[in-house]
Amino acid sequence: MADLPFRVLPRLDDENRFFWTAGERGELRFLRCQACGYYLHPPLPRCPECGSREVAPEAVSGLGEVYSVTVNHHSWDGGREPYAIAIVGFPEQADLRMTSNVIGCPPEQVCIGMAVQVTFEAHDDVWFPLFTPVAASG
Ligand SMILES: [Zn+2]
Repeated sequence: MADLPFRVLPRLDDENRFFWTAGERGELRFLRCQACGYYLHPPLPRCPECGSREVAPEAVSGLGEVYSVTVNHHSWDGGREPYAIAIVGFPEQADLRMTSNVIGCPPEQVCIGMAVQVTFEAHDDVWFPLFTPVAASG
């Protein structure tokens, strides 16, 4: 795809590579405590719940819900405006959330509580997790 919007690429390191490259396999992964099952995002070296250092990346379903949304109309970086910046929450854990963009519908239609699913946009070796609306069924 030649028509990708500009994105600032994260610098990959041993702590975040699992997150930014999981999209190659279609997976959204977060660190999860292997002792108590708590998801840690952003990544931390030890679990804030139980103190364990046994944390490892695990894939989640990729389904989520818009927790908060704002529409950006200002051109900060030569990107495409307007676009929707959303905090997406996940059913796996009440406080597991990440900030991303919702694409695939007009940004003003993105609303709190909207069901979304992860999709990925590849830039070199970085796969950005983005979200698209889940088509209402039934
Ligand atoms: Zn734990």
